[in-house]
Amino acid sequence: MIPGTFSYYRPDSVDKAVALLTELGEEARPLAGGHSLIPMMKLRLAQPEHLIDLSQIAALKSITREGDTVVIGAMVSQHDMIDSAEIAASLPILIETAKLIADPQVRYVGTMGGNVANGDPGNDMPALMQCLGATYVLAGPNGTREVAARDFYEAAYFTKLEPGELLTQIRIPASPAGHGYAYEKLKRKVGDYATAAAAVVLTMSGGTCASAAIALTNVGDTPLLAEEAASALVGTVIDKAAIDAAVAAAEGITDPASDGRGPAEYRTKMAGVMLRRAIERAKTRAA
Ligand SMILES: Cc1cc2nc3c(=O)[nH]c(=O)nc-3n(C[C@H](O)[C@H](O)[C@H](O)COP(=O)(O)OP(=O)(O)OC[C@H]3O[C@@H](n4cnc5c(N)ncnc54)[C@H](O)[C@@H]3O)c2cc1C
Repeated sequence: MIPGTFSYYRPDSVDKAVALLTELGEEARPLAGGHSLIPMMKLRLAQPEHLIDLSQIAALKSITREGDTVVIGAMVSQHDMIDSAEIAASLPILIETAKLIADPQVRYVGTMGGNVANGDPGNDMPALMQCLGATYVLAGPNGTREVAARDFYEAAYFTKLEPGELLTQIRIPASPAGHGYAYEKLKRKVGDYATAAAAVVLTMSGGTCASAAIALTNVGDTPLLAEEAASALVGTVIDKAAIDAAVAAAEGITDPASDGRGPAEYRTKMAGVMLRRAIERAKTRAA
């Protein structure tokens, strides 16, 4: 319950936050919503010496549209996203997914940036970002760079974020009009991390699947982009045979942990069941 001691900083710009992170080094951690970091600190699984609170950086709190790209500031809370008309219009799967994350109180403070930067395979947004082809903007002492969500995750709690870097924006191509989508998550109760979950976005043209993207949550050390599974749908009418093929391909790339959510074999099968449901629901939604 009692975290270690730390010094606290509250910069009001990205530049100041990056300068602090750079100056204070590896013992400094950004504090966003605090709903992953503070629980870890209370268990002493994380003991940062310096917390850089991002809550006063207004530039990180907006949701905007730049052409076909939706730009979500790192400090946009999960609640703000659920409430956003822009997100409802351009990326409704984000709202469906966010509603399956945690509970209302956590969603008031938990942020998009914290969820994707955390590196916990249990977080739901990372696989969704891979499914949607999102890009993360990282600000560091040498300027900014962009890393695709599909390249960002290396292992549990290991990402491409370098010391001194701050994730500032998530840039997501708006899904095409008429797309079908679904996020299906199996969990033991409200607020639990997924036993397995699947994100699907697809488009149909003349009754056949024109494009598909699939990613899986919490059935490996990282979120998993299921490219072969998506390819199994494209060009088909998404009949049982195509879904069976996609499910088999997706199950084949899983490597889940055995834990209180069940043994690895069960979680692999549940990834397949979630994917089947997500594909079927996405298809019914596609125009
Ligand atoms: C009861 C409970 C249930 C939950 N259930 C779920 C769930 O089902 N699914 C789910 O996805 N999540 C769940 N969460 C986690 C929740 O969504 C967190 O809020 C989220 O994982 C982290 O976001 P945060 O803003 O709270 O980040 P923080 O806890 O502040 O930070 C998390 C990590 O990311 C780093 N970080 C934060 N922001 C940045 C940034 N901009 N740049 C670089 N590094 C950064 C921090 O230094 C820290 O290492 C749950 C949390 C609780 C307490």
